[in-house]
Amino acid sequence: MAVPISDLMAHLDALLKPEQFNDYCPNGLQVQGRQQVQQLVCGVTASQALIDSAIEVGADAVLVHHGFFWKGEDPCITGMKQKRIKALLEHEVNLIAYHLPLDAQPLYGNNVQLAAQLGITVTDGLEPGNLYSVGHIGKLDKAAPVMAFADHVANKLGRRPLVIEGGEQTISTVAWCTGAAQGYIEKAAALEVDAFLSGEISEQTVHQARELGIHYIAAGHHATERYGVQAVGKHLQLELGVDYQFIDIDNPV
Ligand SMILES: [Zn+2]
Repeated sequence: MAVPISDLMAHLDALLKPEQFNDYCPNGLQVQGRQQVQQLVCGVTASQALIDSAIEVGADAVLVHHGFFWKGEDPCITGMKQKRIKALLEHEVNLIAYHLPLDAQPLYGNNVQLAAQLGITVTDGLEPGNLYSVGHIGKLDKAAPVMAFADHVANKLGRRPLVIEGGEQTISTVAWCTGAAQGYIEKAAALEVDAFLSGEISEQTVHQARELGIHYIAAGHHATERYGVQAVGKHLQLELGVDYQFIDIDNPV
């Protein structure tokens, strides 16, 4: 069923509450296309490859986690950015992007959806007591040696994580935050969990893990952020009757 883009945006804003976040990009409708949306394509990043695939399948709107217009970038619409925006405008495809609101949404967000994939029970926010915290802590059903947990992550996400062992402990409690949240490792260590999982890793993260005594698991920025947008797409299909499909443009980082 086709729905007006204004209805779709009102639904998304009510669900994701962008006003609660101080983000690095605008959240919501970033590039306006046609008025009615029936075919919705979801993806992680609004790359040219995703935009081209969406046009090919006849998408009316594309919903992503990583859109355009990041703080600090050149605001001019030239080069790579011009090509992406030109393709969207020429085909009247709406580009909808939600960044931190899509990480944090307590039912459909990247963080809780990653926990569901990995079989982790959420016990609190990485910011204790905050339901909309970006990042969470939780526990495993059964304590696992670090390499057994890494195998489990590899199996579920289809990508081998990079593991830095931070001690002798098996893993029963874990903190996680999808994407490039390696900078939260001290926050996680302060909560006395056995391991911290995020997408990316920096040189210094290795030393931090060893010195703070917490295992660090770099499970992939893209790999950890595939699930929120799919959960939201499925929700929109159920609630509004749009046709949704997820297009995965693989990314090894
Ligand atoms: Zn990200």
